Amino acid sequence: MFRTKHIRIISALLIFVMLFSLTACKKTTQQGETDPSSAPTDDHTASVTESANETAGTDPTEPSKATPAPVDYDPADDFQNRFGSLNDCSIWENDEMLLFCPEHDYYYIGYYDKAADVCGVLCGKPECEHDHINKNKDCNGYAQVCAHLGSMNGRICFVAYNYDVSPYYTALYSMNHDGTDRREELRLPDLEVTGSVQQFYLHRGYLYMCALVQNVTAGSPEDYARFSRINVRTGDFEIIYENHETALSYGMRFVGNGIFIYNSTLVNGSGARNRILRFDAVTGQIRTLHDNVVQDYFGNTIFRMWVDENENVYYTVGQKEDTSAVVYKLDVNGNAKPYMDFADDDILYDLAVLSGDIALAIGAPAGVDPRAFWIWVRDLEGNTVFKGEFPQTQFLKELGIEQNYSISDFMGDRNAIYVCFTDADISEEKWNTTPILGIVRYDVVSPTELSGHFVYKSVQ
Ligand SMILES: [Zn+2]
Repeated sequence: MFRTKHIRIISALLIFVMLFSLTACKKTTQQGETDPSSAPTDDHTASVTESANETAGTDPTEPSKATPAPVDYDPADDFQNRFGSLNDCSIWENDEMLLFCPEHDYYYIGYYDKAADVCGVLCGKPECEHDHINKNKDCNGYAQVCAHLGSMNGRICFVAYNYDVSPYYTALYSMNHDGTDRREELRLPDLEVTGSVQQFYLHRGYLYMCALVQNVTAGSPEDYARFSRINVRTGDFEIIYENHETALSYGMRFVGNGIFIYNSTLVNGSGARNRILRFDAVTGQIRTLHDNVVQDYFGNTIFRMWVDENENVYYTVGQKEDTSAVVYKLDVNGNAKPYMDFADDDILYDLAVLSGDIALAIGAPAGVDPRAFWIWVRDLEGNTVFKGEFPQTQFLKELGIEQNYSISDFMGDRNAIYVCFTDADISEEKWNTTPILGIVRYDVVSPTELSGHFVYKSVQ
């Protein structure tokens, strides 16, 4: 099938994890230990069955030190998993508003007021000029390298650098929903302790972190994932899980006191080991749910994971040439079984993401405008929520980035899909200017119609 260049670009943006993995492969040798009882194979399903039977329920790690969990959490403060895959920006929302921050370049937390249909910088200071002043440190919405938006005790929280002191540090900050009473809640440990944090997740009184650690052992570089958390109240830090195999992909999802970890690692030079674990936030016990080795990491590495409220675990894998995207689901024994297939007679949907109880696959038909692409959104029962051409052009025109843009991710649920568009122009002239970006909420009107609406625009 003819594949357009454009959709490749979009796919490449979406699979940054895979890009990272390619880089990792080039610069490292095989670091991982493999399970000798697992016969590596390209048959994803078969290999899962063989190896998972032997490893499911086993515990390759020391139990993490249990620390008391706070009992005064509000479910409204739970981590919002549907936005958990965002890499270069962060979104948090409630019934009244949506908050947004990019993690670099733009230095302010933005809000969108749903009732009033207005957006701006989240700052309740009277007479503040917000982002009209370059790097306005006096603005409550100012956040350098703002990393994660979350909620705790009814307050908005975010992680940001403080470059105003030497040495600089990273901290968790909080403020009221109206942008007043900004406070520093907690200084984070140094990078030597946490690793280079790629994702923060605030959940029930803990700040969870997914980080990369770089070590050189016996002359060979290691680049592995470290999963850890900090008790926000006490500042206690603990590593939940890590192995020293080169990381291909990683992430966490949160269901009550169940903390779900996925970690794909490089083994045997070009193979992958997919692991999914469950950490209990209260007891500190960790349990392996799924552990499987495949011969070829390409197209077999965990790309996205979703865990529903009953702790059913789903995942998708990276893009593979001429292969329709598949959602896998773990059975009671930890075996991954193909659960939902995006095979279609006309369009190759070859990459799928998982968000709020939906799977969203991306594809392009042959021989049409190379900028056009299609999405197929289904709920986890398999019903089609939306299927059709993705209507992005109008918004790219309004942002003025029709020719050179990137999409951070697709996220949402049965009712609406959120997309963050950014300017992909990194030329020198644009380097020091406020980047152009916009978040569009596409309401699902019917299985064949989406209705898009800007909820945030950095250029007015
Ligand atoms: Zn301000």
